[in-house]
Amino acid sequence: AIPLVIAISTAMSARAGILVKDRLALERMRQVDAVLFDKTGTLTMGRPAVSGVAAAGPVSEDELLALAAAAERDSEHPLAKAVVAAASGPVPVATEFRSLTGKGVRAVVDGAQVSVGGPGLLRDLSLAAPSSIASSVDEWAAAGSTVLYVVRDGDVLGALALADEIRPESREAVALLRAEKVHTVMITGDARNVAESVAAKVGIDEVFAEVLPEDKDAAVASLQQRGLSVAMVGDGVNDAPALARADVGVAIGAGTDVAVESAGVVLASDDPRGVVSARRLSTASYRKMV
Ligand code: ADP
Ligand code: MG
Repeated sequence: AIPLVIAISTAMSARAGILVKDRLALERMRQVDAVLFDKTGTLTMGRPAVSGVAAAGPVSEDELLALAAAAERDSEHPLAKAVVAAASGPVPVATEFRSLTGKGVRAVVDGAQVSVGGPGLLRDLSLAAPSSIASSVDEWAAAGSTVLYVVRDGDVLGALALADEIRPESREAVALLRAEKVHTVMITGDARNVAESVAAKVGIDEVFAEVLPEDKDAAVASLQQRGLSVAMVGDGVNDAPALARADVGVAIGAGTDVAVESAGVVLASDDPRGVVSARRLSTASYRKMV
C-alpha cells in the first residue's frame, strides 16, 4: 500500500505545485508547529524601489541619490539595484568597492569614503542620524519601508526609503497557519521597527530582526530549543543554512539554486500559501500509512 500512497501524494503534490525533494521532509511537515518565514522575497515581493529621499544638508536629494548609486553600482543586492535604478542623472565613478554583508556597502567616490547601509552600519560607525531627517526616517520605517543611510567621510548626508510590496497572499497564508495552531515567525536582516511594521500587516506572531545572514540558522535552532518543530520558508542564498537546519526546509518560487538545493520541499510558485497546502498534503498522505 505504501507505494500507492506515495504515487497518489506525488500526483496531488504536482498538481498543487509542491515539489517534494525529500520524502521525509514532507512526512515531517504535518508535525511542524512553527513556520519561520524570511521577510524579503518570501512575505514580500523582493523587488524594492526607492520611495523616499531625505537629504540632511550639504548635498541635494539628486546628489544624495547619485552618491548612493555610485557606491552601490557593483553590489548584487536587490536594494543596490533599486538605488542604481532610481538615480536619474550622471553617477560618479566609485573605486575600492566593498560589500559589508548584512549591513551595506562602502566605496571611494571622488576621493571620499562613501557608505550606504541600514541602522547597523551607522551603529558600526558610531554615527547618529541627523535630527533634520529623523521624522522622515521614523515615518518610513513605521510604514514598513527599509531605510538606508548615506555616509560620506563620517557625515550622514541623508537617507533613502526603499519600499517592497507585501505579497497579496502573505496575510492569508499566516492566518491559515494560525488557524491550525501553528506559531508564525518572520526573520530578516532589516531593522526592528521596519520588521515589526511588516509583521503587523501580515499578522505574524513573532519577529527576529537585524539578523546577520550567518546567524539565520541559529534563529532556527533557538526555536527548536523551545521544543518547536520548525519549517523555514525562504528564497535567498543566505537562507540556505537555515533551510538545511529546519525540520522542513521550504524553498519558494524562483528561489536561488542554493536555496532549492538546501530545501526538502520546493514550492513551484511564489505563493506563501503553498506552505499550508504542503502541510495539508503531508497530513492527508501520511495519515493513511499509520
Ligand atoms: P534580508 O534579511 O532582507 O535578506 P539582508 O541580510 O540581505 O536582508 O540585508 C540586511 C540589511 O543590510 C538590509 O536591510 C540593509 O539595511 C543592509 N544591506 C544589505 N545589503 C545592502 C546594500 N547593498 N546596500 C545597502 N544596504 C544593504
Ligand atoms: Mg536577502
